Amino acid sequence: MATPFTPDRFAAILRAEGVNVIEYGQWRTHDRAGHGGWGPINGVVIHHTVSSGTASSVQLCYDGYEGLPGPLCHGVIAKSGDVYLISAGRANHAGSGDSDVLDAVVAERALPAPNEQDTDGNAHFYGFEAINMGDGRDPWPEEQLDAIEKVSAAICRAYGWSAASVIGHKEWTDQKSDPRGFSMATMRERIDRRLAGKPNKPAPQPTYEPFPGEQWFKNNPVSPIVTAMGRRLVAEGCSAYSEGPGPRWTSADRESFRKWQRKLGDAEQFVDGWPGPRQWDALKIPKS
Ligand SMILES: [Zn+2]
Repeated sequence: MATPFTPDRFAAILRAEGVNVIEYGQWRTHDRAGHGGWGPINGVVIHHTVSSGTASSVQLCYDGYEGLPGPLCHGVIAKSGDVYLISAGRANHAGSGDSDVLDAVVAERALPAPNEQDTDGNAHFYGFEAINMGDGRDPWPEEQLDAIEKVSAAICRAYGWSAASVIGHKEWTDQKSDPRGFSMATMRERIDRRLAGKPNKPAPQPTYEPFPGEQWFKNNPVSPIVTAMGRRLVAEGCSAYSEGPGPRWTSADRESFRKWQRKLGDAEQFVDGWPGPRQWDALKIPKS
């Protein structure tokens, strides 16, 4: 829990983390004040814009569109890694999400899968829109991922948080799919490594779900571990799900895991959809 930054402080902490900040329009006073709360701040939400082109994307996020007035985030992250500040106050980015997720972010523990829309995220989160089509094919340049890491780390460092305070929009609500094309779990590892790179900020080690054994899957388990695995498979672009992923092991889980085995480049006899320990560990599934 934390008090929102003043505009000066917001820009300053981002620059101190090495972010190339561009102050756009009347960003210091451009906000949704009067349309709901702003603060206490509990975390950061990462989005993709479903757009291309820096200038038009920044303008869209600044202005909003019919039915959703801008600002649509606090900063727009270009493919170059430049970050356009467009607001320092309440913005229309997170919308409604799950209070259980907010509780987990506040406690910095593993996130539950969102399934409710009972909490106003715009009051509690800084939001960054990264310019990407969100189609799973539009590339994420390293400069852009680096900027996502830096803006997140800057806020975590200023508030004394770990990367567990940084979530993707799709982790806030099951009504959204962004960001798509990189893994939030991997991004959180990067943020924690960055936070550990400076003194007096111990980074918690990421903990991964240990391999439950080959036979475990063949017993058709119903477990949050299956959901966590499925979420990682989706993040890696290995989804064969038409719905879910969910806790019950199904043929869609097996087909999705088969895609992961292919992605690892494994020999055909190991591409059978049944997880093996090395393939499991490579997926880096957050502990449930
Ligand atoms: Zn979003």
